[in-house]
Amino acid sequence: MLVLKTEKELKSHLLPLGNEKSLGLVPTMGALHHGHASLIRRAISENDTTVVSIFINPTQFNNQEDLKKYPQSLKEDIHILEKLSSEIIVFAPPVEEMYPNGVTSTSYQFNGLDEVMEGAFRDGHFNGVGTVVEVLLKLVNPTKAYFGEKDFQQLQIIKRLVEIKDIPVDIIGCPIVREPNGLAMSSRNERLSPVLRKEAGLIYKTLETAKKRFGTESAKSIMDWVKNQFKEHPNLKLEYIEITDVETLMPIKRKQDNRKYRAFIAVYADEVRLIDNIALN
Ligand code: AMP
Repeated sequence: MLVLKTEKELKSHLLPLGNEKSLGLVPTMGALHHGHASLIRRAISENDTTVVSIFINPTQFNNQEDLKKYPQSLKEDIHILEKLSSEIIVFAPPVEEMYPNGVTSTSYQFNGLDEVMEGAFRDGHFNGVGTVVEVLLKLVNPTKAYFGEKDFQQLQIIKRLVEIKDIPVDIIGCPIVREPNGLAMSSRNERLSPVLRKEAGLIYKTLETAKKRFGTESAKSIMDWVKNQFKEHPNLKLEYIEITDVETLMPIKRKQDNRKYRAFIAVYADEVRLIDNIALN
């Protein structure tokens, strides 16, 4: 398995592949789980070569404690990747390689997509995500890049990023992979106690019920119902519940038959922040 650390090494392996071969990129921050694996399997099945990047991107963390506590497990990650395919190219650069001119973010115009939900609660988060993804896309120059619907707002923002920066790549969204109790898989789940991890199954259960109610109830009444559910579980602190249009990510005003809607949620389980979302129609 090739594990490359620098732009120079990466270029020297990718250039000889030429333009005829398809190249898939799966950007990750490591601590790989089945959610990541589903993206990687899809990339392998659709491309001649697959690059998986592992880089904990400092500019997307608004909370320095969260960055410090983010799990790092490159050895285990490489082991997991080897089992998926020994032909994967791993790109695991140090911070200086990704930010040679200092650790700062570019400022993007995401048309308001970055001003709601995660953007509203995590200042500068999406400029950080945009910065690192733009660098990766330009370094790797993939045919397709794969992102999880687990971070649905991020997925929409990356689609916008490649539009405004005119980057020739297909952005592929992949479904959310869940633990048996419905909790969306996340590297952060490792920080939950077994009891809390079980209780956190409530997040998806609530989203599923919200979906059922969406056929007959107003968004406001659904959101009020969700807020009440969490009041009964003091270990799980609801940060937000939103029902938005899928394209604009703006809160729903009046349901329209030709529009798609999604519910988004962020919850603190102790100090671990968990997010999830569900398609409503
Ligand atoms: P991360 O390492 O958390 O930055 O995630 C890397 C990629 O994997 C992102 O595109 C995530 O949306 C995606 N991802 C993370 N968790 C899941 C999951 N449970 N199901 C599907 N995709 C996921």
